[in-house]
Amino acid sequence: MRSLPPGPETYATTVVDLIGDTPLVQLRSVIKDVADPDEGPLVLVKVEYVNPGGSVKDRIAVRMIDAAEKSGALKPGGTIVEPTSGNTGVGLAIVAQQRGYSCIFVCPDKVSDDKVNTLRAYGADVVVCPTAVEPDHPDSYYSVSDRLVRDTPGAWKPDQYSNQEGPNSHYHSTGPEIWAQTQGKVTHFVAGIGTGGTITGTGRYLREVSDNKVKIIGADPEGSVYSGGNGRPYLVEGVGEDFWPAAYDPSVVSDIIAVSDTESFDMTRRLAREEGLLVGGSCGMAVVAALRLAETCGPDDVIVVLLPDGGRGYLSKIFNDEWMSGYGFIKNPHQETVGEVLR
Ligand code: PMP
Repeated sequence: MRSLPPGPETYATTVVDLIGDTPLVQLRSVIKDVADPDEGPLVLVKVEYVNPGGSVKDRIAVRMIDAAEKSGALKPGGTIVEPTSGNTGVGLAIVAQQRGYSCIFVCPDKVSDDKVNTLRAYGADVVVCPTAVEPDHPDSYYSVSDRLVRDTPGAWKPDQYSNQEGPNSHYHSTGPEIWAQTQGKVTHFVAGIGTGGTITGTGRYLREVSDNKVKIIGADPEGSVYSGGNGRPYLVEGVGEDFWPAAYDPSVVSDIIAVSDTESFDMTRRLAREEGLLVGGSCGMAVVAALRLAETCGPDDVIVVLLPDGGRGYLSKIFNDEWMSGYGFIKNPHQETVGEVLR
């Protein structure tokens, strides 16, 4: 007999049990742009970087794998093959290693070494493909992942863009958490849209449980199709698309607010400096949209904004003055040299 029983008050038996149940925290500084923090609408952020893999994507990883085990699509000792370079890969890698599966992730060569190394650190195999070839070229990202699925015995491809367990994971976890944490007082939910899983599942739950009273607001990079763009490029990562994925149900969403890269990155930096929240660029984007919404809200409104990941993965970009000024996002890099500090 063990002296300490497992359970929520003592310890989790695997890191997978730590996924979800993320905290809400009030924005008290950046909100001052539009409202008094004590008298205006209450703006709360749901901090997903506290998940074991550092992002909201842990939620879909565990649910997609649970469902594939149940349906028999993923068999003991099987291999998970997915074209992903980022947060979904980390979530899948963690759940896979805990349950004895292998992982092969396929990434385009524009993905940073840090991201590839993170996936490898968790024990996943990563295949890097050239970006500069046509989609039907045998070495393309798409051809290689299709071939790996075909040729690897026991392979299963979660396909986060069409897998309905993505939205389902949020319907069964993120949505009920927000409803319980706000004691049913949430009036607006704001989230970015990548696969659309987060906003679809969370939004569907919050609308159902509130008799359609909770308004679901999408935040989208300018240029993305969700806010009427033509797919023109933008630099904020993980959100916006140039196609419509099956994981996204637009009927859940009441409104979409388009946000520029400049606004997203500026707010991302402010969240670290003013709120102590070192988060990714899609978080800054969602907060910009939430503040724009807050301007139109009253003191009884409770806006919950989902912050998908942490900022450590963006230190050489959003939090790097040279990178920011190279793209014109900041005018005067204020990185001080040792000489300037001593002067
Ligand atoms: N932000 C980041 C950093 C992400 O990785 C993702 C997932 N692609 C999202 C936002 C959007 O989440 P979803 O795919 O559920 O729409």
